[in-house]
Amino acid sequence: TSNDTAQTPSAEGAASGAPVVIQVQDVHKSFGDLHVLKGCDLTVRAGEVAVLVGPSGSGKSTLLRCINQLEEPSAGRVLIEGVVQGYRSDPLPDGRWQKLSNAEIAAQRSRIGMVFQRFHLFPHLTALGNVMEAPVQVRGLPKAAAEKKARELLDRVGLGDRADHYPSELSGGQQQRVAIARALAMDPELMLFDEPTSALDPELVSEVLTVLKDLAADGMTMVVVTHEMGFAREVADHVVFMDDGAIVEEGTPEQVIDHPRSERLKGFLASVL
Ligand code: ADP
Ligand code: MG
Repeated sequence: TSNDTAQTPSAEGAASGAPVVIQVQDVHKSFGDLHVLKGCDLTVRAGEVAVLVGPSGSGKSTLLRCINQLEEPSAGRVLIEGVVQGYRSDPLPDGRWQKLSNAEIAAQRSRIGMVFQRFHLFPHLTALGNVMEAPVQVRGLPKAAAEKKARELLDRVGLGDRADHYPSELSGGQQQRVAIARALAMDPELMLFDEPTSALDPELVSEVLTVLKDLAADGMTMVVVTHEMGFAREVADHVVFMDDGAIVEEGTPEQVIDHPRSERLKGFLASVL
């Protein structure tokens, strides 16, 4: 987990034979009359890092939220490791799909870690308390075991010496690293990051991106929404460009960032590079 392992991120996942972890199949999402996702397809394999880019309002957050069931697709489906999310695996005899219970959905969701632009830490808990919270409360892990694991995770994000600090005593970059450790404490199969550095002062961005690079190098399957093109170029196995609710271009960083085909992607890149 040290920085010197970051030069070959997700080399295994880049091999096309790795098992598929995320499958988004023709997902649509509407909010009332607003058709936000217009048939998105996405495949992410084990150990891959997919970087999702696109203009504000193009549907990136909504797509992530559909992947981890914070939103329910209006049509289409999401499979995680081959399992349809939100529904029983077999349709009823009449062909209808039966929804899972809230508890079953919560169990599926707990296998996916999510980190938001804003850190959403519990203000009344220390860094250690924040990281221990879900394993103890949700998984029923004994406190001593949860604390040992939480300390290891805080070490892993470079905050071993900040375990007893409250969020208000930490910088934005440190708070975001606690949020990442908190997500990792649930042993997620995959991690979703929604603009994890956009709320940070510029000088704090790299400490968070370094943690993401380390995670990628350790083989974590990740989808990262970000405007950090340097990060995308260095770490992404594939870059996905969304515009107006659709995936417009997808490919290696070289293909998407250096050789954009559509005018829409060229225009977007000109605005962020
Ligand atoms: P992005 O993350 O790419 O900026 P979003 O997925 O947040 O885009 O939003 C895409 C569109 O969906 C925007 O027009 C936004 O206003 C709309 N939207 C997102 N969430 C909701 C919601 N809960 N209710 C209504 N409209 C929404
Ligand atoms: Mg967003």
